[in-house]
Amino acid sequence: MIIIDNPQNCCGCTACVSVCPRKAITMQPDALGFLYPQIDKDLCTNCGLCEKVCAFNENYEKSSDNILDVYAVRHKDIKEIEKSRSGAMFVAITDYILENNGVVYGAGYSDHFRVTHKRAVTKTERDEFRGSKYVQSELGSTFTKVYKDLKNGTLVCFSGTPCQVAGLRSFLKAQKANTEKLLLIDIVCHGTPSPYIWRDYLAYIEKKHKGKATGVSFRDKEDIGWTAHKESFIINNHKITTDTYTDLFYKHIMFRHSCKVCHFANTSRPSNITIADFWGWQNVDKDFNKDDKGVSLVFINSLKGKRFFEKVATSVNTIKTKLQYALQPNLQSPSIPNPRRMEFEIDYTRKGFIYVAKKYGNIGFICRLMQKYPIIAKIVWNVNDRIIKKLWKRRK
Ligand SMILES: Cc1cc2nc3c(=O)[nH]c(=O)nc-3n(C[C@H](O)[C@H](O)[C@H](O)COP(=O)(O)OP(=O)(O)OC[C@H]3O[C@@H](n4cnc5c(N)ncnc54)[C@H](O)[C@@H]3O)c2cc1C
Ligand code: SF4
Ligand code: SF4
Ligand code: SF4
Repeated sequence: MIIIDNPQNCCGCTACVSVCPRKAITMQPDALGFLYPQIDKDLCTNCGLCEKVCAFNENYEKSSDNILDVYAVRHKDIKEIEKSRSGAMFVAITDYILENNGVVYGAGYSDHFRVTHKRAVTKTERDEFRGSKYVQSELGSTFTKVYKDLKNGTLVCFSGTPCQVAGLRSFLKAQKANTEKLLLIDIVCHGTPSPYIWRDYLAYIEKKHKGKATGVSFRDKEDIGWTAHKESFIINNHKITTDTYTDLFYKHIMFRHSCKVCHFANTSRPSNITIADFWGWQNVDKDFNKDDKGVSLVFINSLKGKRFFEKVATSVNTIKTKLQYALQPNLQSPSIPNPRRMEFEIDYTRKGFIYVAKKYGNIGFICRLMQKYPIIAKIVWNVNDRIIKKLWKRRK
């Protein structure tokens, strides 16, 4: 049975839960709301399937050793770009899937803006998946739903973080599923923040502005453009723009522990197609994104990806380019965690959201030192590792 002796070894993909024939595993939240598998030893028969299916390691299945093609992409309809995070590549592809009786899985909302993966069969349902949600999305029973769809011969597109895509791929392989009709799309991933911090921040903003949010955007490009980053909320029919959540995001202080050792921060992708923001688009064509509405970076990682990309060629403007122009930081290494990540978690557990929001408001001195001197980063990580392991053992 799978034993997680250090939380950084589990990305929360749910492959183990989905594969367990005895339903002995459930996902349980840690202090920041990140879900981890917990095994009911009375139900477990020690079959070993959960350990075998775990793909959060260097040996995850890759679509090809080298990215086949690299593109800068913008949807031909500017309204689609305005409603999407970058150049609306996701909408272009999933329009094709839905127009061909397929289903789309992506990150949407349940309850009151809790970020969860959902299944869409119409464009209206799919539209909820547009836009980046800077929170780890809860997968629930998504993997088994995808498996059922494939069994029924349905065309399926699954989109998510690379660790979610790798987990799904591994689960489907264990089920010996026919994946001919499955298109996998992953994003380039900077790290996923805490569900509880997002929940508490939303509650804090609502209290402050005396009303319930009826809309949220983690990165609102309507007023300030694609390059800038601020979150916004619609409360009492007014838009409120803030940057506290964004600030904590870029401090790398509320990411899941596994993001520190992410195995997917490279160009060996587990998906058929990778989508991202095209930072450095100016090197391709300085006029392509003159309006700062956004441009997608697209990697075609397999022949299947190439076939789907060709199907949507008429709805997007594309420029073929070189990988060297697209190599942003998270395609080279994982995000460097804030040295106070553990302190943040402990403070949050003891004193709550408002306390940590105030205390961790600025980029710390140690963090800057770590970025400048890798040796200091190594020492701080080693100390942090020891603290994390101790606390993890105590929790169990
Ligand atoms: C946590 C996170 C980290 C990111 N880090 C980077 C980065 O380092 N570099 C970069 O270039 N871009 C990053 N992005 C942005 C991402 O690359 C864009 O969403 C992508 O460019 C898609 O743009 P689009 O216009 O084609 O799609 P959109 O129409 O905006 O669609 C958004 C897509 O992202 C998926 N998605 C949104 N939120 C989540 C979530 N929480 N978990 C899983 N999937 C989600 C949806 O399912 C959908 O497929 C990140 C996004 C997220 C959510
Ligand atoms: S060892 Fe087998 S039965 Fe036990 S939790 Fe893992 S998958 Fe389930
Ligand atoms: S990474 Fe996925 S499969 Fe591995 S232990 Fe965590 S939830 Fe289970
Ligand atoms: S950074 Fe890596 S481990 Fe973290 S959510 Fe993204 S893909 Fe998963």
